[in-house]
Amino acid sequence: MTTTTYGLYCVKITRLGVMNSYLVEEEDGLTAVDTGMGGSAGAILAAAQVIGKPIRRVLLTHAHMDHAGSLDALMAHLPNAEFLCSGQTARFLAGDMRLEVGQAQRKLSGSFVRCKSKPARLLADGDQVGSLQVITTPGHAPDHLAFLDSRDGTLYAGDAFQTQGGLAVSGDMRWLFPLPAWATWYKAAALESARKLAALNPSRLVVGHGPALESPGAELAVAIARAARRFGQNS
Ligand SMILES: [Zn+2]
Repeated sequence: MTTTTYGLYCVKITRLGVMNSYLVEEEDGLTAVDTGMGGSAGAILAAAQVIGKPIRRVLLTHAHMDHAGSLDALMAHLPNAEFLCSGQTARFLAGDMRLEVGQAQRKLSGSFVRCKSKPARLLADGDQVGSLQVITTPGHAPDHLAFLDSRDGTLYAGDAFQTQGGLAVSGDMRWLFPLPAWATWYKAAALESARKLAALNPSRLVVGHGPALESPGAELAVAIARAARRFGQNS
């Protein structure tokens, strides 16, 4: 396990070199963003202990195994914390894998986990959780959320982008780290979500897999243009 601090509010916890979870500092405590694969709860709790603040909230970007795998184990240690996710993530975690009316009826991709933890409330686009603004970003998975810290512009992008193996929109294969592309549900939606996130002009991009990028605007534009070419769409 390694931890890395970015700016004033963001601590990254990395397992196996490529699986990231985050702790976001708020005045009243910490917000965990993603819980990592199974066996990650101890590392997240240890990082919180080093920071010296309690974890108040646990957010998920999506219900894939490498993000939600330690949710139940983490919540078991946090009886006073709230778990928050999208309605579709909650249904996936409960084992209901149906897509929503109006969503592209494409086959789900990647490993989803079932969890016992129930959300305290469901998150929708534009909601605010502490300093984090909720942004619906379907594509990598249909239930995917990203979070923008309104204090410093840090974008918690989950798997909407990867930086491991090179910055890429979800679904744009990077052979040095192909897992997120293999697990992508619908590339056209991923590209649309990538454009939505880039338009927010984040000051820092942090992702589920790979290092943070500071002032990522120009690199995001290149990655989006590359994905548009490769996905066969005009940028
Ligand atoms: Zn994923």
